[in-house]
Amino acid sequence: MTQYLKALMILLAILFGVPLLILAAVQTKGMPEQVVQHQEWITPEASGANTQQVEQVRSGDTAGVILSRLGFPSAEAANIIAAAKPIYPLKNIHIGHKFARGATDSEVVVSYQVDANQVLNLRLIQGHTWQAEMIKRKVVSRVDVVSATIQDSLFWDASKAGLADNLILKLVDMFAWDIDFARDLRKGDAFKVMFEEKFDDEGKQVGYTILAASFTNRGRVFTGIRYENQKGEIEYYDDQGRNLRKTYLKSPVKYSRISSRFRTSRLHPVLGYTRAHRGVDYAAKSGTPIHAIGDGKIVYKGWKGGYGRFIEIRHNNGIHSTAYAHMSRYARGMRKGKYVKQGDVIGYVGMSGLATGPHLHFEFRSRGRAVNPLKVKHNPAKPVRKDELSAFRLKAKEMLRLMATFDQSGTWG
Ligand SMILES: [Zn+2]
Repeated sequence: MTQYLKALMILLAILFGVPLLILAAVQTKGMPEQVVQHQEWITPEASGANTQQVEQVRSGDTAGVILSRLGFPSAEAANIIAAAKPIYPLKNIHIGHKFARGATDSEVVVSYQVDANQVLNLRLIQGHTWQAEMIKRKVVSRVDVVSATIQDSLFWDASKAGLADNLILKLVDMFAWDIDFARDLRKGDAFKVMFEEKFDDEGKQVGYTILAASFTNRGRVFTGIRYENQKGEIEYYDDQGRNLRKTYLKSPVKYSRISSRFRTSRLHPVLGYTRAHRGVDYAAKSGTPIHAIGDGKIVYKGWKGGYGRFIEIRHNNGIHSTAYAHMSRYARGMRKGKYVKQGDVIGYVGMSGLATGPHLHFEFRSRGRAVNPLKVKHNPAKPVRKDELSAFRLKAKEMLRLMATFDQSGTWG
């Protein structure tokens, strides 16, 4: 590609500030390597006036209240709010965002930070009319692909390959439901990530997003594609449109009733003794099948004191685990290290260990702490809607193609 074309494309990208994949990709080399943890906000000062006073939106504030703190009488505040309305209604202000009052030689200026890339500017023209204008930061985006085979550790090899820490964390997050990063990574596992970074006109990184990624873990390939649905919700899906996040079954067993609920080990004020119950007891007939509530790996299978026949499953990269006790017997093939799928039968209700009748004692742990299984709330992890599926497939195919193309040639253009 000629220098002239590159320059033209960079200019276009600057003018439109949009994530044009190809346009952005041509300028991979020239951008700085600098990485910031958080998106840096465009500041009210960027609007050109000398800032004299800044007020942050607090809980319960209205634009009127803040403008009064900035020294405007209520009639003037009303004028400002009215002038802003067609550009950005100041009913929509957010806690933590800043208002600023400043001045140039000839004007009074009030600014409000709408978001990371926009400031609403209001100028008092000739002392009587307020004029509103939205100042947008020029953002240039670039798309890059990084791939690596794990020789040492994910963090080491990914950093060496040029993936910033924040993107490594995002990658881990993305596949956390399918891959146990703490225990299951092996030498020879590999990944490929296509991501977009945004830079402001000073070359500072102001945002980053994974667009698509694939991860090969012990021969199994997982793929994730970022997709924004028609409602504006953004999630990662596999190439079939299944959500990479998972949800758990509501209960592991068809039960007749809950015979004992979750209690923490607080001294009972009346009975005077401490008795914790770290799970839920589901009364059910002996022999009723017990299902794994989510995909995961069996980390314990065997007799465990009062629990009797016991299975523990690690889910979601070890953030969650579930335990199933008092089984009459295990399902065929259960063993430590085995992967189970959501809904798989792992055993059958019984009363082994310390139990007065047949029931399933079920525990749910989150980061090692027992929580009430009946209070675990799950964000529904819905697949791509049927009516959007063909649009999604098209996009997924395109993203994966781009990622593959990029990898073969090292760079585009
Ligand atoms: Zn119990």
